[in-house]
Amino acid sequence: MTLSLYNTRTKQKEAFDPIKKDKVGLYTCGPTVYNYAHIGNLRTYVFEDILRRVLKFNDYDVNHVMNITDVGHLTDDADSGEDKMEKGAAREGKTAWEIAEFYAEKFKENMTDLNITQPTTWCKATDHIQEQIDFVQALTDKGVTYETSDGIYFDTTKIDDYGKLANLENQELKAGERVDMGEKKNPHDFALWKWSPSRDGRHPERPAGSEGSRRQMEWDAFGHKGFPGWHIECSAMSMKYLGEQFDIHCGGIDHVPIHHTNEIAQTETLTGKKPWVNFWMHGEFLIMKDGDKMAKSADNFITLQTLKEKNIDPLAYRYFLLQTHYRKQLNFSWEALEAAEAGLKRLHGKVMELKDKKVGNSNSELRDNFAEKINDDLDTAGALALLQTAIKNNEINYDTVLTFDKVLGLGLNEIKGESKKVKVPKEVQELMDQRQQAREEKDFTKSDELRDKIKKLGFDVEDTSEGQKITNT
Ligand code: AMP
Ligand code: ZN
Repeated sequence: MTLSLYNTRTKQKEAFDPIKKDKVGLYTCGPTVYNYAHIGNLRTYVFEDILRRVLKFNDYDVNHVMNITDVGHLTDDADSGEDKMEKGAAREGKTAWEIAEFYAEKFKENMTDLNITQPTTWCKATDHIQEQIDFVQALTDKGVTYETSDGIYFDTTKIDDYGKLANLENQELKAGERVDMGEKKNPHDFALWKWSPSRDGRHPERPAGSEGSRRQMEWDAFGHKGFPGWHIECSAMSMKYLGEQFDIHCGGIDHVPIHHTNEIAQTETLTGKKPWVNFWMHGEFLIMKDGDKMAKSADNFITLQTLKEKNIDPLAYRYFLLQTHYRKQLNFSWEALEAAEAGLKRLHGKVMELKDKKVGNSNSELRDNFAEKINDDLDTAGALALLQTAIKNNEINYDTVLTFDKVLGLGLNEIKGESKKVKVPKEVQELMDQRQQAREEKDFTKSDELRDKIKKLGFDVEDTSEGQKITNT
């Protein structure tokens, strides 16, 4: 059966055909690890996870590379503003390296909670500095760069098809867009490498080997202290792990006009091979009810931890996401999420009935219908509806549900009781609160006594990095 995917590059749905038979090279732009991922970011990673699972369902062997941006992503996409990592470090009184490690770990925990498959290869920008320096040098050798007093820039007028992914015409800006030109020659030119500023910020250029920087992350290159521009890491690392041309590159929709456009410009200029990537796929945004984008810098910042604190199963959020096509904007509301949670619980319950009673059939037509849905540009909503109907009509058996769940990733194989969510009685909650206090006061004898009391009431309590975790005994 043909797998058809919407390709931002050609602006249409196309039959997917990999460069190498049965093998797929997939690159997904990863998180900037200066804060927790918000649930909007996580929507993009769930969409990419579905893509990966659908590729696997179609028997492709997927080589999936995801980067971790731990340097160089400025607060402003137009190459000015502060570095997000350094800003995060200042906010939390830690080093930029500590910040990166902490939030990368938290991101991986989010992935586990949401049943997102880990990439085949993780790569950190700071582990690939030499590759990025070599890339910038090669572009300079090709004559498409220029230097300013704050770095090395790509001259976008040196290539004839700059901006084709986003239909950008002749350096025109979109309505309402502003660009801080600084010493840039053209509005769309972008930084490949930036010089570190001096401690008082008055000397943007600092010779290699000099002391007294405002930055923690910096390297000697091109005769100065400096650091990479944000876009260069994805070009350099994807080339290292996936070669000069590969199959699919993904990210959120906001990456189309700047990040991915610039990645294409620099990579195709370097290799001379076009297209660099066959399929570009982009997930639409999760937006708040009032139409606002969810942003790490805004007040409407909801993380997976926020959901967990409200006792909402992260997989209910995954289910909520799967009900809408990845290329449609999705409005977030607590009511809608609660409705999704109830829906997932009902589904869990019905799947358990199937398991216990060993009812339902399995037929290849059903599997074909499911494949048709997911192979139609990842129609998860259609696939879910098909699953629900098949269960309702007693047309599916437990094993087939599990086959479908390999794509949906809703943990339908893991349910042990009626529901994964533990309802904690008030009495037990009070004992847990007392235990929390005892642990904070390092009174471990009391803490153990309280654990025993909780056990007698039918619950096991375990201490995790996120606090006490309770399960039914
Ligand atoms: P960042 O960590 O800021 O680089 O973003 C990580 C990913 O989340 C990128 O692919 C973004 O395009 C994506 N993203 C950012 N905001 C949203 C949102 N509100 N909804 C969906 N995806 C988003
Ligand atoms: Zn990227």
